[in-house]
Amino acid sequence: MSSFAEWGLRQVINASGKMTALGATAVAPEVAEALARGAQEYVVMDELLAAAGARIARATGAEAAVPTIGAAAGIAIATAACVAGADPAAIEALPDSLGRPNEVVLPKGHSVHFGAPVTQMIRLGGGRPVEAGHANLVTADHVEGAISDRTAALFYCKSHHAVQKGMVALEELIAIGRRRGVPVVVDAAAEEDLRRYIGMGADLVIYSGGKAIGGPTSGFICGRRDLVAACAMQYAGIGRAMKVSKEAIAGLLTALDLYEKRDAAAAARRDRERMEWLAGELNRIPGLRARVIQDEAGREIYRASVEVLPGAGITAAELVRKLEDGDPAIYTRNHRLNLGIISIDPRPLRPGQEEIILARVREILEEVRA
Ligand SMILES: *Cc1c(COP(=O)(O)O)cnc(C)c1O
Repeated sequence: MSSFAEWGLRQVINASGKMTALGATAVAPEVAEALARGAQEYVVMDELLAAAGARIARATGAEAAVPTIGAAAGIAIATAACVAGADPAAIEALPDSLGRPNEVVLPKGHSVHFGAPVTQMIRLGGGRPVEAGHANLVTADHVEGAISDRTAALFYCKSHHAVQKGMVALEELIAIGRRRGVPVVVDAAAEEDLRRYIGMGADLVIYSGGKAIGGPTSGFICGRRDLVAACAMQYAGIGRAMKVSKEAIAGLLTALDLYEKRDAAAAARRDRERMEWLAGELNRIPGLRARVIQDEAGREIYRASVEVLPGAGITAAELVRKLEDGDPAIYTRNHRLNLGIISIDPRPLRPGQEEIILARVREILEEVRA
């Protein structure tokens, strides 16, 4: 029995991906063990933060790093560091910036809602978001024009949530930041490559520990030594309201070890075989047409894509609702639902759960035909 079942909650089979609404990540046993051990011991927190920072810096190629309780907290803390720096009075006054430069310039197409608005996290850190350009067009000139002596940072959101076309390139933004003496902060929350943006010269880069890395609710900021030191100092200010726990840090570091050792190609191959089996079985159900397709962004992810045909006796949206309403609740990936297509993402599925999904889909379609 799952621990959540003890409180009367339904078991969830997650075939949708990393969803905060489903609890983000179910961690590996090694990570769970690190969480449990970390929770049961004392440690000098400053020493833990420093050791974790050094470990994360090594993983990212950055000069320094500091753990956070998530990427959203990372945006607020990084903003606070750019506004208040290491000045204790300024740190304690935030989110009031006491008249210090606090504008954070971001391309308008990067002003995303990831579950909450990035601009709100910027405000939480004492920043005032300034959106440069237009929703579908932001040039280097738009960004240059938005910079003034009120500017504290430039912000770039590397995410599938952001507008992908017509946006100023990160390379250009970094060049502008260098020229104007303004730090560049990159939100790379869900990105898989931990070294890329530091390698490009970004001043601070923010990651979520619970997304690509597969850690617990956690995250980190890595980058320039002086700015990371200022980030760490915010834990005596607004950072206190988003405190990262010792157990979260223990889990994050263990997840990072596993992430560095992972064999992504072997995992993708295994997942693909599971989805090919599932698609083959689903194709035997009248009214469905299934096949395996690669991730739209070209990543090594192969999902089962299930088209609910007009003769199925049920629409794709109705099938999704029945799957979600059951016990176990089955959550699929539904961004092509308007085309009558449901996707099964193998990455968050436990071994054998594809068989439960198949059985439930078969049962629902038999019910509606009866
Ligand atoms: C998920 C996400 C966040 C927030 O990350 P948490 O670790 O859940 O706080 C921030 N920015 C982007 C682009 C995201 O996708």
